Amino acid sequence: MILKNISVLYGNDLKFIEKTSVEVTGNTIQKISSKIKPSKNKVVNCNGLLLIPGLINSHTHIGDSVAKDIALNKDVDSKIHPMFGVKQKILRETEPKKLILFMRKTAKSMLKKGITTFVDFRESGLDGILLIKKALFDIPIRVVILGRIEFYQSKNQIKNNTPIPKSYLNQLEPLLKNCDGLGISGSNENSDSALKQLSKIKEIRAIHCAETKQSYLKSKRMTKKTEPERCLLLKPNFLVHMTYASKSDLKLVSKKIRGIVVCPRANASLAEGIPDIEQMMKMNCNVAIGTDNLMINSPDLFREMDFLWKVTMGIHKKRVDPKKILKMVTVNAGKLLDKKIGCIKEGYLADAVFIKKNSLDIDPLQNPHASIVHRANENSIKAVMIGGKIVHGKL
Ligand SMILES: [Zn+2]
Repeated sequence: MILKNISVLYGNDLKFIEKTSVEVTGNTIQKISSKIKPSKNKVVNCNGLLLIPGLINSHTHIGDSVAKDIALNKDVDSKIHPMFGVKQKILRETEPKKLILFMRKTAKSMLKKGITTFVDFRESGLDGILLIKKALFDIPIRVVILGRIEFYQSKNQIKNNTPIPKSYLNQLEPLLKNCDGLGISGSNENSDSALKQLSKIKEIRAIHCAETKQSYLKSKRMTKKTEPERCLLLKPNFLVHMTYASKSDLKLVSKKIRGIVVCPRANASLAEGIPDIEQMMKMNCNVAIGTDNLMINSPDLFREMDFLWKVTMGIHKKRVDPKKILKMVTVNAGKLLDKKIGCIKEGYLADAVFIKKNSLDIDPLQNPHASIVHRANENSIKAVMIGGKIVHGKL
């Protein structure tokens, strides 16, 4: 397919090109040039369209899609604690058919909103992984599933540095055969030895870290170490949240991980604060964005970008380049996952969103980066492409 007369946000710096052609062969972006010669490839005139990288939602829990806005006034632990939160009870007690139904709705909703890849922290062990796979079997969205063994340790076990018993460790192999890695609930439910045992796997390792002030203080109280210090024992590829990370925490982690996933609207809706992306960027952290639990937030990266951009400028009383925000849901996330996605560039997977430049909310498009970050929405999308195939809308 050759996309002619199209505007593009090109390459790692999302450079705006007013008019060019993009050649897609199979699932890959083959060539981007205004001088692509005619070939056997089908030519599509894309006049009036802007091609942006497919959006990447770097942190979700779509398993709780059935629990939207339940227990709204409870505190964080009563809502989503991995052992005794309301969410766990709902996941345990809802029939699988119903969980699947609402996971499917969420995946379809994300596709319509230009999300081409999402990274899900899946609870409930192997059963949970098989359930999400069943839910997504005919939905063409890309998913990175990070599962977990349902094993959590008490304060005493952590103090005594108890390792993970063999019966649980044996569950890792079948689990990892069916998913892309581990998404660990946090360091406060795992001893040092447990985290080190889990660090040995070769698949993706990710962990929630410093989400709330309580969890941050609990780590210090229980282990005399900070949460980020202890999370590093997992040798994580990336950390999720870091809402309560200090400057020295960020300094400590920045060189040891591929990035941090912030979830600003989820943190705010739990009344737990706002991640300080200014400080993270200053410390050279690679920042990506997730929408986190469906229970507390909608899976919409347009809303997430708008919120994060303005709340950051509002708090710091300082301008932030909107392009930096747009990179967090595209280029940075591709780097975090170490996959050829999140970028319109030769050799990358052809995952992209076609934005209508004359759509009601963004016409006239005078600053493409800013308009996508805080004006674009589902209605601005003409079509969504994943791996070279149009999976939503029409060209
Ligand atoms: Zn989470």
